[in-house]
Amino acid sequence: MIAAKGYAALQAGTELSPWTFERRALTPHDVLIEILYCGVCHTDLHGIRNDWFPGIFPMVPGHEIVGRVIEAGEHVTKLKVGDLGGVGVMVDACMECEDCRNDQEQFCQVSPVQTYNSLQKDGTPAYGGYSNLIVVREEFVHHIADTLPLEGVAPLLCAGITTYSPIRNWNIGKGHKVAVVGLGGLGHMAVKFAVAFGAEVTVLSTSERKREAASKLGAHHFVVTTDEEQFKSVLRSFHFIIDTVAADHDINPYLASLKTNGVYINVGMPAKPWSIPSFSLAAGNKVVAGSGAGGLAQTQEMLDFCAEHNIVSDVEVIKIQDIHTAFERLEKGDVLYRFVIDMSTL
Ligand code: NAP
Repeated sequence: MIAAKGYAALQAGTELSPWTFERRALTPHDVLIEILYCGVCHTDLHGIRNDWFPGIFPMVPGHEIVGRVIEAGEHVTKLKVGDLGGVGVMVDACMECEDCRNDQEQFCQVSPVQTYNSLQKDGTPAYGGYSNLIVVREEFVHHIADTLPLEGVAPLLCAGITTYSPIRNWNIGKGHKVAVVGLGGLGHMAVKFAVAFGAEVTVLSTSERKREAASKLGAHHFVVTTDEEQFKSVLRSFHFIIDTVAADHDINPYLASLKTNGVYINVGMPAKPWSIPSFSLAAGNKVVAGSGAGGLAQTQEMLDFCAEHNIVSDVEVIKIQDIHTAFERLEKGDVLYRFVIDMSTL
């Protein structure tokens, strides 16, 4: 076993506190990573609060990890000691089921292992990236270019791939009018990718104060949805809407701003289910779709795309000791756009 330290919620709803624990020993196909940076995803907040289901506690959150390989199992071929590596929302899967064979390991139906709040194949809990070390099967560690600032790369491992994936899977690009709902960690990456692929991008935000920041990201238009007149001005406007909202909200007003045959892609994970009248979908042949993270191959494709196009997340680097304040500010939407923990402060 490997002695590790991190910050954990010891029970649901409690504040994170320093915690020492053990990581599993390396198998021949694992690498040991010294974590340098870890992004703070809204999922971490949902997780420690049991928003979706009873979690596994103590819980060490964090699934936007960038670090350096400090030990490699004897059969590891993908990485070597000294390499940079990135780890996202999953650390293992069966690699044999239909989803794994179709490069959709994030949906493995046999033995999926999420980076935290999940059981590993040996039955012990997986602990996430608010920590100094992590043991990961080599396939689940992505190559990271050393040309980009690492703190800005960390959020690509979740916020990045979660927004890149639907944009690629729905072939969103030139000629498309796209709206991004919610300008947070995921939302700002959705804007960057949609702009990079040539779409005309509108941000639908509840925060007037983000108008200028949205324009700096490359968004072409900005609409404050709490202003009824502004929201009405985009009725039947969009080919695609990407919803990244973490909080409970009514999507019907947003559906009305889709064009006929428009597609509403949801990546946010509010706790409360939506209620959608059948007429809202039938009138205009509208589609409501979901999208969950992304597979291993597409995650590497996204990281390579970012390295080539100089795309990183806009981040505010924090000390681990400031995580409570960061959670409070994240809840209020008071961050442009992602907190990233400098793990050397642990
Ligand atoms: P975040 O940084 O907190 O951003 C969410 C944004 O939603 C806020 O910045 C805010 O933007 C907007 N918002 C907040 N309350 C709202 C409301 N009542 N109505 C409308 N908009 C509201 O969160 P995040 O880290 O990007 O995560 C977003 C969601 O995606 C979370 O639920 C997370 O669990 C989920 N997620 C899903 C996947 C997946 O695989 N599908 C992966 C990762 C995360 P404005 O100020 O611009 O309105």
